[in-house]
Amino acid sequence: MTRILDGAAVARAIRLEVAEEVGRLVARGARPPGLAAVLVGSDPASQIYVGSKARAAETAGFVHRTVELPADASQARLDSTIDELNQDDSIDGVLVQLPLPARLAPRAVLDRLDPTKDVDGLHAVNVGRLWLAEPGLFPATPMGIIELLARSEIDVEGMRAVIVGRSHLVGKPLAGLLLQQHATVTICHSRSGDLAAITREADLLVAAVGRLALIGPEHVRPGAVVVDVGIHRIEDAATVERLFPGDSRRRADFERKGRIVTGDVDFHRVAPLAGAITPVPGGVGPLTVAMLLSNTLLASKRRQGLE
Ligand code: NAP
Repeated sequence: MTRILDGAAVARAIRLEVAEEVGRLVARGARPPGLAAVLVGSDPASQIYVGSKARAAETAGFVHRTVELPADASQARLDSTIDELNQDDSIDGVLVQLPLPARLAPRAVLDRLDPTKDVDGLHAVNVGRLWLAEPGLFPATPMGIIELLARSEIDVEGMRAVIVGRSHLVGKPLAGLLLQQHATVTICHSRSGDLAAITREADLLVAAVGRLALIGPEHVRPGAVVVDVGIHRIEDAATVERLFPGDSRRRADFERKGRIVTGDVDFHRVAPLAGAITPVPGGVGPLTVAMLLSNTLLASKRRQGLE
């Protein structure tokens, strides 16, 4: 029987723990964690992401601030916004919503952040700390995967882990975190030859690719743990029926909302083979916001000398 790894439940537990700890710290006279998001332009998807992070932060008892800059804001204006947030003692975490408009250099912006406030874990100093196995701030999505595995009592030590995808946000930092936990790690990417031959070796297979249903049964060793990071919106009935034949629950969902969300793994065909698998939605996605809150609380405690 395949175990479904319930990321949504783990995320709820983490968010509750964060909120309770904030309550305890504030009752002892500490300052609530402060999170700021910088949003350049008015991309609707970015506005939704920033809005949902803001609501989650406020629910956890954080102070939240969104700094909105116009789409034509200059690099100098963005730099001075970052400098101001770096100096603001009430702010412990700063998120720069990506992607930025093409003329702005994301690396220069991320590296301008105070690394102790870099709750997305993308500053070069934090990337280095991860690979040195030193305390720092690390990206929320891979941290969420590590937390989900740990809370599901899946011990990765000695496991053969294969990650498909080498992004700075997911694949690479996850490789570093799994190595710290003594997994044997392989990273695949778009130029890896014979992907299925590599992924079939995996005890733990993580798909962080951005390709709808790329991972099929031919990629999976029976009994493997499969983690699906991908997020895809499907807006046509034929694709829903092709990916989830006879799945009346998903079809009803599609008819109600006009779309469903699924991942990089062909869930319908892979789930029966896997030992454990994360669903989409309700798997890795909710953990990202939860770990962002957890990172901000950690940054706040460090900055207030409370760790
Ligand atoms: P990304 O930056 O686009 O990276 C995708 C990676 O997949 C690249 O390394 C790419 O290889 C590799 N790739 C592409 N096609 C491939 C193929 N056919 N075979 C093997 N590897 C292939 O994406 P990302 O930011 O890591 O995101 C990946 C997915 O996760 C997206 O669907 C995204 O929406 C989702 N995501 C979800 C969360 C969450 O909270 N659940 C968070 C972040 C991202 P190259 O390097 O060679 O190009």
